[in-house]
Amino acid sequence: MRTIGLIGGMSWESTAEYYRLLNELTRERLGGLHSARCVLYSVDFAEIERLQVRGDWEAAGRILADAARRLEAAGADLLLLCTNTMHKVADRIEAATAVPLLHLADATAQAVRAAGLTRVGLLGTAFTMEQDFYRGRLAAGGLDVLVPDAAGRALVHRVIYEELCLGVVRDASRAAYQEVIGALVAAGAEGIVLGCTEIELLIGAQDSPVPVFPTARLHAQAAVREALRDLTP
Ligand code: GLU
Repeated sequence: MRTIGLIGGMSWESTAEYYRLLNELTRERLGGLHSARCVLYSVDFAEIERLQVRGDWEAAGRILADAARRLEAAGADLLLLCTNTMHKVADRIEAATAVPLLHLADATAQAVRAAGLTRVGLLGTAFTMEQDFYRGRLAAGGLDVLVPDAAGRALVHRVIYEELCLGVVRDASRAAYQEVIGALVAAGAEGIVLGCTEIELLIGAQDSPVPVFPTARLHAQAAVREALRDLTP
């Protein structure tokens, strides 16, 4: 079994889910008392969030590159960056270590294509919805990406930072997200990418009229497939 290295803490609410998912998926595949071999480097999210707001992606990239090097030293064979947003600095992480980074947008695009869909609505932070580092990667993976209007994007972004990253899950916010999803479906979305690792704490398949793609789960599934590649068919 390969060792999975997690760059986490962004936020820890979703990193805790990653840890649970990696272990559950490994047990499903191997049975018995099997669990995922993994190492976690968890950052102080307040520091990262301040750098995001300031637009200091260089400094944020240095922190995450340093985390990647520590995971490499701890024996990681593959790396997961447990946040969609910080894939903005994926190239810095890749340059810092020889350990392969399993890109979250690639795992997501692959799952959407495997479901036979191409046109998706994307929910995430403003950085993820509005900038090219993530949308462009999904598009390169063969997807046609729609995002909410400005008011919808502001709502989705606010709920992530003011609620979900603090462990707050509100019915009113779920209903508001469902309205945003409804508008994306009306605009032609065949599926919804939950492109922020905390959104799946709020929204599930039952909350959407079209399939949802929960990125933390899809990322964990791809990592377990990779970690167990030589062990199971
Ligand atoms: N976990 C989030 C994501 O997947 C948002 C927190 C962050 O800004 O990293 O984008």
